[in-house]
Amino acid sequence: MRTVIVGAGLVGLTTAASLRLIGHDVTVLEHAPEVRAVGAEIGLWPNALREFDKLGIGDAVRHMGDTVDAWFFDAAGKPERADGYDPSRYRFLMVPRPGLNTLLAETVGLERIRLGTHVTGFTEHDTHVEVHVSDGPSSRADLLIGADGVYSDVRAALVPGSSAVEHEGNRVWRAMVPSGDERPEGTALTIGSNRTRGGYTRVAGGQTMWWVNQFNAGAPAGGKRERALRQARNLAKDGWHDELAAMIAATPEEAILENQIMLVPRLPYWTTGRVALIGDAAHGLSPHLAVGGTLGIEDAGVLRAELDGETDPAEALVRYETARRARMDKVREHSDAIEYADGAVENAERFAALSDWMLTTAPAT
Ligand SMILES: Cc1cc2nc3c(=O)[nH]c(=O)nc-3n(C[C@H](O)[C@H](O)[C@H](O)COP(=O)(O)OP(=O)(O)OC[C@H]3O[C@@H](n4cnc5c(N)ncnc54)[C@H](O)[C@@H]3O)c2cc1C
Repeated sequence: MRTVIVGAGLVGLTTAASLRLIGHDVTVLEHAPEVRAVGAEIGLWPNALREFDKLGIGDAVRHMGDTVDAWFFDAAGKPERADGYDPSRYRFLMVPRPGLNTLLAETVGLERIRLGTHVTGFTEHDTHVEVHVSDGPSSRADLLIGADGVYSDVRAALVPGSSAVEHEGNRVWRAMVPSGDERPEGTALTIGSNRTRGGYTRVAGGQTMWWVNQFNAGAPAGGKRERALRQARNLAKDGWHDELAAMIAATPEEAILENQIMLVPRLPYWTTGRVALIGDAAHGLSPHLAVGGTLGIEDAGVLRAELDGETDPAEALVRYETARRARMDKVREHSDAIEYADGAVENAERFAALSDWMLTTAPAT
């Protein structure tokens, strides 16, 4: 089957590699001039690593990452974990995003990735799909997968009126800095006052990643560093997090990444006969869950399993959509519960409920 995948992000590349495994002739169309990754590190859960094991790169990914054994802290540094959950529910692998995407691109085959190619839409026929690009002839495919993120052009053509919307006031600041004498076990994740979350964690290469996530942030004022510092004060009480404040203060303005978080509305459908959405294009949610990429990788595994051995994709896509929409509906419930958790104790309880549910119900593909 000739399959075109739009987007060479984490999920598009994983999907391309997964579909190659079952014999698809894949082409990835990416509008950026290079395979890139926004952000420094991503936390991956065992359900994501299982798909990488299938692709034969699980050990390489584990090797490039660091295991994080997370605690939830209150603003004075008191550690919390919910009772009754296995310790593995707090453990994930922190992996450098650029290295991971490079490894995935190599696994797909660089000759199968067409960079600098902006997809504008598609025309679906009974027997094939034409994929339109901004300059050059359309590509013809049996199957089109939109892995083009929250601002997906494939989604815009498939589900008109489904533009991503701002998660009002939800902003994230993050950066990588050289590790110093901060506590090596890190402070991920502190739940502060005024709906602020954040902390830092040591990652590979002598680096430390810090981040601050603010719900209900007011109108932005001042520079990025100033804004991050202002919110970070909500994470600090009685000297806890002096080192976070110092880290932020010492980060060059241009090294700080600031995002307004966008949400993909709940879609009425994700697929038609020959077109499917995957990853953030289908279900981009707020990063306070820290599972969006992991669930996109799960999507790829389910799509692979459903398409395996199929010559007509339509029925496989219906099965894929049914399974994944139901799972993401449940994730939306967890997302709301965690967003509105009141303090570290409640957050720990609700996060453990999410990770426990996610790991115990992960599809066996
Ligand atoms: C601050 C933050 C922290 C997060 N932390 C975690 C975490 O710890 N764990 C976790 O699992 N998830 C995390 N997530 C979520 C995770 O980053 C996303 O779910 C994941 O990166 C989505 O990958 P994707 O491939 O679907 O989309 P993207 O990474 O957005 O990739 C889309 C690709 O499509 C390309 N593209 C877009 N439009 C077109 C077009 N028209 N034509 C051609 N190419 C196009 C883009 O250039 C891009 O390369 C976090 C998110 C944020 C914002």
